[in-house]
Amino acid sequence: MCGVCGGNLTGNGVRDYICQGFTDGGRCTNDLRFRRAAIDAAVVAAAHEYLTDDEQIRRGIERVRAELERRARTEDVAARRADAAEVRRLDDKINAVRALDLPAAATTAAVAALDAERRALIEAAAQHKGQESMCAPPRC
Ligand SMILES: [Zn+2]
Repeated sequence: MCGVCGGNLTGNGVRDYICQGFTDGGRCTNDLRFRRAAIDAAVVAAAHEYLTDDEQIRRGIERVRAELERRARTEDVAARRADAAEVRRLDDKINAVRALDLPAAATTAAVAALDAERRALIEAAAQHKGQESMCAPPRC
């Protein structure tokens, strides 16, 4: 960044950086040139230090973990809502079948089929939830 106008430096020839304001029609009076090699080396050194710093790495992992946990909670809530809606739908069907006043054997068979579907759904939802809690990031 230019010390006079605060603008960005830009390449000037193969060896130098210069204030972009100076090269773009004289918006800035700073005609100092800086060697690319020296600035590039300083930037790379700073980036290397930042990227290999244990505290920065720990914070990065923490941010990713928090985001993964937030997403898992959101998906879990959505899945539970979908499961609950499906269970309610099956409850309504079971009640509707009972209200039809069919022959007892027919009612029993229809309710048993719907109830089996309902139990399978509840079991699958419980398993799904169990898997998620066992597989908490970043260990999975
Ligand atoms: Zn400038």
